[in-house]
Amino acid sequence: MENAPVIDSHVPLAAPNARLADSNARLIDSFGRLHDNLRVSVTDRCNVRCFYCMPETDVRFVERREILDFEEIERFVRIAVTLGVRKVRITGGEPLVRRDLPVLVRRLAALPGVEDIALTTNGVLLPKLAQPLYEAGLRRINVHLDTLDRERFLRITRRDEISKVLAGLELCKQLGYSKIKLNAVAVKNLVEPDIVPLARFGREHGFEVRYIEFMPLDAQNLWDRKKVLLADDIIRMLSREIAPLVPVPDPDPRAPASEYRFADGVGRVGFIASVSRPFCLNCNRLRLTADGKLRYCLFAIEEDDVKTLLRSGASDDDVAALIRRNVAGKWRGHEINTARFVAPPRPMYAIGG
Ligand code: SAM
Ligand code: SF4
Repeated sequence: MENAPVIDSHVPLAAPNARLADSNARLIDSFGRLHDNLRVSVTDRCNVRCFYCMPETDVRFVERREILDFEEIERFVRIAVTLGVRKVRITGGEPLVRRDLPVLVRRLAALPGVEDIALTTNGVLLPKLAQPLYEAGLRRINVHLDTLDRERFLRITRRDEISKVLAGLELCKQLGYSKIKLNAVAVKNLVEPDIVPLARFGREHGFEVRYIEFMPLDAQNLWDRKKVLLADDIIRMLSREIAPLVPVPDPDPRAPASEYRFADGVGRVGFIASVSRPFCLNCNRLRLTADGKLRYCLFAIEEDDVKTLLRSGASDDDVAALIRRNVAGKWRGHEINTARFVAPPRPMYAIGG
């Protein structure tokens, strides 16, 4: 039964807005997975250099003219919405280095059919941009923070910017962002001293920490399974040091994070255990890279060229057909845990995490 199509009973049978996405148009792949979640990378540039994502020096960035402009992104999202996409997350590289990002957020948030817009950022520019982004309609934000320790932050990101991230988080809290999550990459023999302090920090401020297992997407081929700090080890540490963790069923069973609450009633944590507990069979995501390539998986080897289509006078139907084709060709899963696994040619910053 290895290759039998998997029909996930959690996949809703009807798109949330049937008028915008008729049943023939919905993006359902050959394994029965409905795709309603789009991650849009707006740049491959970044103001820090996390070792598990970017090289330290000589980073090769895409030329600016190859990056989709706001009209192109908006058009693509509008077309994707007609196919049932409802959730959009802006990412990068570091999305806040893209000039006028709040203008794009406002435009995407205003598109009929976009029910949820969120952003993933390293937080360094939040002191400047948290307010304009909030005014543009952003409410959900994930801030990447692996450690509260200045030295380790510097070692990981190769930049001394932790104070700006912490100030940005404080500002987001004051502005009233509704769900602030912290993304912490779990690298073995490095971040163990940060696991408990981060969870305590989250409990104190009402942020949900999401521990993300280190994935083979770094630019320098440093990844090795032995360097992954596994979700189960983190659960044991937190349960021992803070309070037992109790699994919480996510209202969206297709969400990649497994959610837990502390048994003492204070706060939650999440785990994105792509290595130890792959969630491919529930995947509902598509990704648009900053240079206009459509990918059905973070680890996809093949991608479809949306930019050339958008820039060659193609109709909306042509673009919709390309999106459908991409979804139709989606594989069953990434196979990190098999000998068949091949890391994608693009590192994380060039895909959009
Ligand atoms: N620059 C923003 C940031 O750092 O949040 C957005 C883009 S970044 C590629 C998105 C997320 O990818 C980060 O929050 C980080 O947690 C995660 N990430 C980067 N490299 C990773 C890796 N090799 N394994 C697991 N997660 C990684
Ligand atoms: Fe930049 Fe985010 Fe990659 Fe770190 S993880 S180098 S912040 S894009």
